Amino acid sequence: MKMPAKFTTYCPFCRSHQVHEVEKVKKGKTTGLHWIDRQKARRGHVGNRGKFSKVPGGDKPTKKINVRYRCVTCKKAHLRKGYRVAKFELTE
Ligand SMILES: [Zn+2]
Repeated sequence: MKMPAKFTTYCPFCRSHQVHEVEKVKKGKTTGLHWIDRQKARRGHVGNRGKFSKVPGGDKPTKKINVRYRCVTCKKAHLRKGYRVAKFELTE
């Protein structure tokens, strides 16, 4: 997909629509431990761990991209949920 390098969108810090600059980042929002991760940790590492013994499946055909939106007015950046695209380009 093609995305403009600058566009107007909602800024949660200014609480209004402002011009934002788009930056590509390696890592998105860190979500921390989920319930399933804590359950996995409780099972220990010996013997059959049930559904956690499964071999993970193959790679998905596309990778999620992480984009940071920086507000030009307040210079603060916010993240949005990553989405899957085959190709990501920034247009002028
Ligand atoms: Zn702002």
